[in-house]
Amino acid sequence: MLYEEKRKELIETARKMERYGLIRLSGGNISLRIDDHVLVTPTAMSYDTMLPEDIVVLDLKGQVIDGKRRPTSDLKAILYILNHMDVNAVIHTHQPKALALSLVCDVLPMISTTMLEEVKGQVNVAPFTISSDEGMGIQTVEYAGDSLCVILKNHGVMAYGKDLDQALSAALYLEESCETYLLALGAHKPITVLTKEQIEEEAKPRGYYGQP
Ligand SMILES: [Zn+2]
Repeated sequence: MLYEEKRKELIETARKMERYGLIRLSGGNISLRIDDHVLVTPTAMSYDTMLPEDIVVLDLKGQVIDGKRRPTSDLKAILYILNHMDVNAVIHTHQPKALALSLVCDVLPMISTTMLEEVKGQVNVAPFTISSDEGMGIQTVEYAGDSLCVILKNHGVMAYGKDLDQALSAALYLEESCETYLLALGAHKPITVLTKEQIEEEAKPRGYYGQP
């Protein structure tokens, strides 16, 4: 089987997405580019029971290389992202706190050091666009900025990165940051966000965090 280990990694990442509350049942999707091929989760299949053979392998134009299942319904948007951004993994979720934020805000400012580390930049809320349409991909590219996530208004999130771990981590810490920001908004007091100078200082490598 082509890319058997990577197929398993896709399914494991999808199950983590569900475990962490970023999606329910078959919601969202995951994609991973390997050279000129893209592995994607199938449409409308529960991640609980998904098998490596359920993953669909396509080329970057959307032509199926291997797989019997119908690929995710957001395929056009995902291909647009992979063809226009320097990323390999794309995770689409319907995570509730980011979605809640999209109903009341146009941007999640840089609120914490963790957000800077894991999400990389302030996260923009892209205007509503029809689901399962290339527009979701076009909006993601347009609103990405420096960040590893874009929130799609009234829909969910596109998180992306060099690999599945980076994209999942960005989606998770976006969710945590949205929860914190919404809590702060509820206090109805002026909100303190990181300044440009603080972000620059914090982003400097200091070489301690993480295991050697
Ligand atoms: Zn969706």
